[in-house]
Amino acid sequence: MAINCLRATPKIPHPSNPNITFSHSFLFLSSNSKPKRLFSPIRAFSMSYDKELAAATKAASVAARLCQKVQQTLLKSDVHSKSDKSPVTVADYGSQALVSFVLERELPSESFSLVAEEDSGDLQIDSGRETLERITKLVNDTVANSDYSDSNLTTEDVLRAIDNGKSEGGSCGRHWVLDPIDGTKGFLRGDQYAIALALLDEGKVVLGVLACPNLPLASISSDNKHSSHDKVGCLFFAKLGGGTYMQPLDGSSPLKVHVSATENPVEASFFESYEAAHSLHGLSSTIAKKLGVKAPPVRIDSQAKYGALSRGDGAIYLRFPHKGYREKIWDHAAGCIVVTEAGGVVTDAAGNPLDFSKGRYLDLEAGIIVTNQKLMPSLLKAVKASLEEEKASSL
Ligand code: AMP
Ligand code: MG
Repeated sequence: MAINCLRATPKIPHPSNPNITFSHSFLFLSSNSKPKRLFSPIRAFSMSYDKELAAATKAASVAARLCQKVQQTLLKSDVHSKSDKSPVTVADYGSQALVSFVLERELPSESFSLVAEEDSGDLQIDSGRETLERITKLVNDTVANSDYSDSNLTTEDVLRAIDNGKSEGGSCGRHWVLDPIDGTKGFLRGDQYAIALALLDEGKVVLGVLACPNLPLASISSDNKHSSHDKVGCLFFAKLGGGTYMQPLDGSSPLKVHVSATENPVEASFFESYEAAHSLHGLSSTIAKKLGVKAPPVRIDSQAKYGALSRGDGAIYLRFPHKGYREKIWDHAAGCIVVTEAGGVVTDAAGNPLDFSKGRYLDLEAGIIVTNQKLMPSLLKAVKASLEEEKASSL
């Protein structure tokens, strides 16, 4: 049965006067304007998303501060071994609670649906009590140094904020999509991670924010030499039809960014997961060779790869999880719009666009590939040939 999504969405503001709202039916009947790059009259008027984007950048920035604090303590401390997962647990829950709290505070009049990685189950049992108290303290310490310093969250508030994230998403209405710490392995190693937040409207990603506290402001392309003195901390943000911007996480002015314009694979470098368990490095290497890429892979954790790609640090991102792994929407929604609004293309291994409207999972063909529009046809050819070769050799 077809589901009527229109009833599930709120009224739409007038594009130049936020005090005026239209109902969807009015738009269907009376709007004959045809603005550029729009899908339908509905989108014509719902495209602004300005206040949602402002709320999302604020939420991700506040959560990034919490994560930075935990990572700095973790790296300084000799008490926690790298295999101790508790700091990342505390930061994960704390980040999710904060994003949920800030979005609700900033957008009080909207119905709130959040699809997020964590739930509070483990914190509700006796053995989780101490962790819950640590998270609540961390959240309140962060809130105290923010625009919300008038607030003090109880443990119950924190549990409720975390459990806002239980939504199943889908193709109707609006859903926020959050990975509170994407790249937890990188977080524990002291490397890259991201707070990744996106908004789905009727199944489409309409805005995305990536806070990458450890990503250098300078390029991380394979031929760029890094130093520990490089300034780090990037915030990428994009909304449908509005382009992609990057600004330092410390708040200075944003710059519009674009993906690499290279048409020549010999000049292109490619990104992939640091963790071999997350993506088949051997297959990426075969694809890159077939395409003619000469540079070695740049391996970093998290959706920081999408951010780096959106500003042209590399030209290609290849992700081929091991058989049976199901990708989650929060691992790609924000990254996807950050790259596409910067002029890139994100598809599965067969060249299909990613579909974020099916719930918490992305069900896709074999893997995810990202590049600019010019390189995509030859990349797809190289991917297809490499996958066929692999299939033939396994027979
Ligand atoms: P990356 O740092 O790009 O490898 O991506 C990190 C994300 O990969 C994590 O947030 C996980 O959600 C996801 N992940 C976890 N296990 C796997 C796996 N076996 N294959 C692919 N991705 C995974
Ligand atoms: Mg993740």
